[in-house]
Amino acid sequence: ANKARTNKTAAGFALGLQDAVDGQVVTRFPPEPSGYLHIGHAKAAMLNQYFAKMYNGKLLIRFDDTNPSKEKTEFEDTILEDLKLLNIHGDTVTHTSDHFEKLYEFAIKFIKDGNAYADDTEKVEMRKQRWDGIASKHRDDSIEDNLKHFEEMKAGTTEGQRWCIRAKISVDDNNKAMRDPVIYRCNLLPHHRTGDKWKIYPTYDFACPLVDSIEGVTHALRTNEYRDRNAQYYWMIDASGLRKLKIWDFSRLNFIYTLLSKRKLHWFVDQKLVGGWDDPRFPTVRGIRRRGLTVEALQQFMLLQGPSQAVVSLEWDTIWTLNKKIIDPVAPRYWAILKEDAVPVTINGGPASIEIKSNPKHKKNAEIGEKKTVYSAHILIEQEDAASFEDNEEITLMDWGNAIVRTKEKGANEKIKSITLDLHLEGDFRKTKKKITWLAQPTSEHPLPPVTLVDFDYLITKKKLEENDDVKDFVTPVTEFKELGFADANVLEIKKGDIIQLERKGYFIYDQEVNGVREFFKIPDGKAAGIASK
Ligand code: ATP
Ligand code: MG
Ligand code: MG
Repeated sequence: ANKARTNKTAAGFALGLQDAVDGQVVTRFPPEPSGYLHIGHAKAAMLNQYFAKMYNGKLLIRFDDTNPSKEKTEFEDTILEDLKLLNIHGDTVTHTSDHFEKLYEFAIKFIKDGNAYADDTEKVEMRKQRWDGIASKHRDDSIEDNLKHFEEMKAGTTEGQRWCIRAKISVDDNNKAMRDPVIYRCNLLPHHRTGDKWKIYPTYDFACPLVDSIEGVTHALRTNEYRDRNAQYYWMIDASGLRKLKIWDFSRLNFIYTLLSKRKLHWFVDQKLVGGWDDPRFPTVRGIRRRGLTVEALQQFMLLQGPSQAVVSLEWDTIWTLNKKIIDPVAPRYWAILKEDAVPVTINGGPASIEIKSNPKHKKNAEIGEKKTVYSAHILIEQEDAASFEDNEEITLMDWGNAIVRTKEKGANEKIKSITLDLHLEGDFRKTKKKITWLAQPTSEHPLPPVTLVDFDYLITKKKLEENDDVKDFVTPVTEFKELGFADANVLEIKKGDIIQLERKGYFIYDQEVNGVREFFKIPDGKAAGIASK
């Protein structure tokens, strides 16, 4: 159904809207201001923006604020910030609550037209009746009675609070979404925008189609798990007499080992299992950005997913692989070595005193600039590298040249305690098996900044939580892994949020300084299931 005029996306996929007229397309992203945006919302927002741009149309950001029990102004602010982070810029920002007056009038019209009725059937009983296809005893109440009850609801009286308004569509349609859905409810809590003005609120099922039409939306993008509700959506528009529009549905985004429900994410925050909504282990827009996912990779990924109707749990690898392709050519390269059991090395033939040379920050991209490398006859290398050296093996010191292993001194614990190398600059680096990173031993003049390298694991232990699974039973016990190291002094120029490569270690994003130590988060690169080993 999503055929007609199509474009080739950067990913090479044909993506288009039905009956789209250039310059006249209006799409909308309708977040509920009840939490932070996650990667699933990012998909919806990006697709909406993509189509609006593709047809030179407009994108509306509409806060779907019909439930005062869940919504707050604070979330509107953070959602707008998150959209900015995603490079999503709506042409206008609206609220469903802007239309409360109109929606109320439409509800009156529905009642007067015989398309809605007031009902006081208990919630549980109503659910059962809907399931079994049984009519409410109020289904055929008079228009006068219905209007009277609606007025009670509007006044928020004790009597009114017992009632709701239901659309009169069908008692027993095979599509259960058509079985007289609730369209108005009483709620006495103050609304974050309209205050005490209203005691009644439209449901999403009623408000969304009507406001879409009122606001001029031409194509409503919806996730396909609610495809059953499409008929209901069209029915609402028909009954209102408003302009019709098209639904374009797409699959809901899910990832393995990942929770994409605000309620469950709230739980992790409350239990202090994460540092907050911007935790790098979180699938929130803030979390994934902080983890080093670029907006470009996200966009490419969402367009790749665009036309897919399959509701599956995706692997994180794909998105991190796209990300790596974007960051690799531009991420400046630095060195760090692990502090634990780092091995001091004396280099025979090394410089008598410290020497400093300029080297490119990226061997294949001169535009990235130069960095200073400190050369000394006394360097540090990693235990793992040192332990791998054979006697008299010729190895390559990166950005320097070859050297031959002469002595290896072992400590009591079998770890290498120190090494001597003979510099052998005539040697051919193409002939050595080991090309290692190293750092000049720190001096007061040339200290080595301490760094923490942080890697993460999934927060839950099960690929896909089922409806009846209790999150508590599937919490990964340890999900943060820290290693201490030294970095070359060039890392001092890096700013929060900068992405770098630590050669032979991978890609990292600089997060913040904690007690004088700079923390870098490992950016998954799509290998080994996206998350490095424990
Ligand atoms: P949650 O279940 O996390 O509370 P929601 O769907 O209730 O999410 P909304 O703020 O109502 O959150 O969603 C705004 C828009 O984002 C909707 O159009 C919705 O279809 C879309 N959306 C939400 N989650 C996903 C997802 N996982 N994949 C794709 N689109 C999504
Ligand atoms: Mg919702
Ligand atoms: Mg939801």
